[in-house]
Amino acid sequence: MSDCIFCKIIAGEIPSAKVYEDDRCLAFKDLDPKAPIHILVVPKAHIQSVDAVTPENSGEAAHILEVIPGIMKELGVKTGYRVVTNIGPDAGQTVPHLHFHVLAGQEMGWTPA
Ligand code: 5GP
Ligand code: ZN
Repeated sequence: MSDCIFCKIIAGEIPSAKVYEDDRCLAFKDLDPKAPIHILVVPKAHIQSVDAVTPENSGEAAHILEVIPGIMKELGVKTGYRVVTNIGPDAGQTVPHLHFHVLAGQEMGWTPA
């Protein structure tokens, strides 16, 4: 998708602070961190959100869940972390390319609404 910010980051057209990359996904630091560690993990394939996950592309989402624990270990996270993905306007999704927020480095409350 030519006008998608995260596709541009994946293509290297917009710089990002990369923390992990393989052939299927990219992880980079969120520009506006909400915790001491706040990374975004995105599939290289443009999928709009969880709402657009299908039997054909669900492997891209599953792959991200498979790599997150290793990324957290690499970053030295030992006492837990949170994985969040927003879907649509009520949840506050601002970038229409599937992304998993991974937050760590502090104890977290739970006030999603
Ligand atoms: P959403 O609100 O869609 O769940 O999350 C989008 C996230 O992308 C936000 O946390 C925002 O800070 C982050 N973000 C938006 N544009 C950029 C960018 O150009 N670079 C980086 N690293 N993060 C971005
Ligand atoms: Zn995209």
